[in-house]
Amino acid sequence: MTNERILLSTPHMTGNEQKYINEAFESNWIAPLGPNVDAFEQEIADYVGVKAAAATSSGTAAIHLALRLLGVGPGDTVFCSSLTFVASANPILYQGADPIFIDSELKSWNMCPQALAEAFQWAETNKCLPKAIIVVNLYGQSADMDPIIELCERYNVPIIEDAAESLGAEYKGKKSGSLGHFGVFSFNGNKIISTSGGGMLVSNDEQAIEKARFLSTQARDPAPHYQHSQLGYNYRMSNVLAGIGRAQLEAIDTRVKQRREKFHTYESELNDLPGIEFMPEAEFGLHNRWLTTMLLTEDAPIDRDELIHALANEDIESRPVWKPMHLQPSYEKYYFIKIWEDSLSKKLFRKGICLPSSSSLSAKEQKFINDTILIQMK
Ligand SMILES: *Cc1c(COP(=O)(O)O)cnc(C)c1O
Repeated sequence: MTNERILLSTPHMTGNEQKYINEAFESNWIAPLGPNVDAFEQEIADYVGVKAAAATSSGTAAIHLALRLLGVGPGDTVFCSSLTFVASANPILYQGADPIFIDSELKSWNMCPQALAEAFQWAETNKCLPKAIIVVNLYGQSADMDPIIELCERYNVPIIEDAAESLGAEYKGKKSGSLGHFGVFSFNGNKIISTSGGGMLVSNDEQAIEKARFLSTQARDPAPHYQHSQLGYNYRMSNVLAGIGRAQLEAIDTRVKQRREKFHTYESELNDLPGIEFMPEAEFGLHNRWLTTMLLTEDAPIDRDELIHALANEDIESRPVWKPMHLQPSYEKYYFIKIWEDSLSKKLFRKGICLPSSSSLSAKEQKFINDTILIQMK
């Protein structure tokens, strides 16, 4: 029907990007830093409802900066959601610290507060209380932050909210990414808004954000010559890309609406079929439905891989749900805390599939996807 492959999540330009890019070109601000970077930072901070933001070259860089700012180093432990993309966890290893992975809960698929409570008790007994915790807001839905915050306050551990996938989502009326000590966003090509590549570190701690800017520009001391007394990074966003981000951010609420509409179309067509269960939207928040994700349960006539294969035969891209970190070869030696006999994140990975969810997906394309799935589910 279409001659082009239908992809999982593609960039969706507004048309205004060129205006900001031109401004950068006309003023010759083709550099990291510049007026678009300053403005984009302020606009994100305002949108999310935090005091300050630092634009970075990627979401991964922003997570790394957050860990560094919290003083995470060799010998420290960091708690992290297991069900996530590897970029949530890698910066823990960059800092020479040890991750301890936490299982998911059913209602949001995110970090399970009960498992977190067990992890804290276990870590207290074993004298390895974490220096920080990374809570991931999966596929555009916030974790259940209240019980998580309560536990972290009890143990005095700061929270990094990995909101790379959840810009525009909400938790009890607050914007996702604004609830931890630090929040992290990504503007990679597949995210809900994109600068082709980029990220943002946000916080109400303005001094920490100022320090993030310093560290991400090679930690150059104020001196006429090049003087460095701390280890820095080249992690800043370019002024050209920040221009793209400004135009993209103008459309964020529309993009959330569009992604949610794609989800509702899938749900209304497929939810009644035996063997299909969509990722729930927990009562505490607004899901941005970055990716529509569903489980193929025992009642389904085919399994996850068969469906992915059948869709690929029609040139439709789909993907398994993230493979949990505790099952990854590079992370399997680290501790994993769960409360169920069989871990929930493993089950979600085995049965879960992400469907094409671009905000630009046409009704015709989505009907074609639904029809392809319906044939397989007979
Ligand atoms: C995309 C993503 C990141 C990393 O963002 P980049 O900008 O690609 O470095 C981190 N965490 C999660 C959960 C992500 O989906």
